[in-house]
Amino acid sequence: MSTAVQRSINRNPRVVFTPGSVFFFLLHFAALGAVIAIPWYPPSVGMLFAVLALFVVRKFGITGGFHRYFSHRSFKTSRFFQFCLAYLGGMAAQKGALWWAANHRHHHQHSDEPEDLHSVKQHGLYWAHVGWILSDEYSEYDGQRVKDLTKYPELVWLDKYHFVPPLTLAIACLALGGWMGLFWAFCVSTVFLYHTTFCINSLCHLLGRRRFETGESSKNSLIMAILTLGEGWHNNHHHYPHCVRQGFKWWEFDPTYYAIKVLGWFRIVRDIKEPPKALRMA
Ligand SMILES: [Zn+2]
Ligand SMILES: [Zn+2]
Repeated sequence: MSTAVQRSINRNPRVVFTPGSVFFFLLHFAALGAVIAIPWYPPSVGMLFAVLALFVVRKFGITGGFHRYFSHRSFKTSRFFQFCLAYLGGMAAQKGALWWAANHRHHHQHSDEPEDLHSVKQHGLYWAHVGWILSDEYSEYDGQRVKDLTKYPELVWLDKYHFVPPLTLAIACLALGGWMGLFWAFCVSTVFLYHTTFCINSLCHLLGRRRFETGESSKNSLIMAILTLGEGWHNNHHHYPHCVRQGFKWWEFDPTYYAIKVLGWFRIVRDIKEPPKALRMA
């Protein structure tokens, strides 16, 4: 962690071979290899179910945990469940909750301005989708943005050793499912997790409809909402970022919100922030 990181935008992005980017490419090669090898090594129905389950559960770690809890503090929970959310989101191999939240808060504060980390409008589709991840511009984050989170040493530790959650999951997949478990349940589902998350930064600022004039390019997309457990209502979210619910209408599919409501019924989470009624009628 560093404080007051100097932000500079690399307008001619290049891939930098850090441990993170090498891991990123190896994961893609492994997932592609698993798909190409289907005629010789087809995954069982159970394995495909494991791919889906590990996608959905870890996706909730990103959408309900890293995004709606750590970035926007849109509900409250116990310190134990907070750690569970940090570990679950961490298993998606998108670094730690503090890194994720700091950079996401920066995106909301500077959407589509020159210093926006992943603005399609400012820096193009490639940079917004994956270029900023593969550069070495943002390997650190501004600790001042997440002062409310850095007071928890377990979160700071998990952020520093962010390779621990995905490594434990990869070992579990190998132990329980053999090489097929590693390649499919871990690698293939992790690649899907990457690109569905990245699409919110890229395609949800490019394609879709706008309900609110938010002063930047965010869009609402049903397809993206289905692929991301409800995060596709990105224009709604930019308009009112601090509520749990992103699908403001009853028909705006938002399973992350439904899951958090269920956790609320069991008293695992509390103080769920809802959007004002006027927004739901808009
Ligand atoms: Zn956005
Ligand atoms: Zn957000």
